[in-house]
Amino acid sequence: MSEINYPIHGSCQCGNVRYQLLAPPSLVVACHCRECQKLSTSAFSITAMVKADTVKFEGEMQDWRRSADSGNTSAAKFCPTCGNRIYHVNPEQPDDIKLKPSNLSDTRVIQPMAHVWVSEKQDWYQIPEGMKTFDKQP
Ligand SMILES: [Zn+2]
Ligand SMILES: [Zn+2]
Repeated sequence: MSEINYPIHGSCQCGNVRYQLLAPPSLVVACHCRECQKLSTSAFSITAMVKADTVKFEGEMQDWRRSADSGNTSAAKFCPTCGNRIYHVNPEQPDDIKLKPSNLSDTRVIQPMAHVWVSEKQDWYQIPEGMKTFDKQP
């Protein structure tokens, strides 16, 4: 497998929101919570933790906010045209971007390093052996 070369480009489904990821994420997790199942329209969603100065966004985004289990606010940024989710951020910690990285051009980046909220995991999905898992949020 060849090395992943940065920057990597990402874009929403319609292309109105584009971004560049300049450096590897510090962590990539698959989250199996019910919110992520709704978000992904699938069994889990994938999040890449990146610092705000390693990602450059272009194009207009809207957000909606909800309270996470931790009590923190989660602002979910999305493309207002196609609805594709781009990233999540706690407005009180704007340096920590939780990128929804499936729309990157090099999808090797999205390979999870850990699985979280496996307490809400779909029974038919088997987590690969040797993978770090957490019942809830670590
Ligand atoms: Zn779009
Ligand atoms: Zn989740």
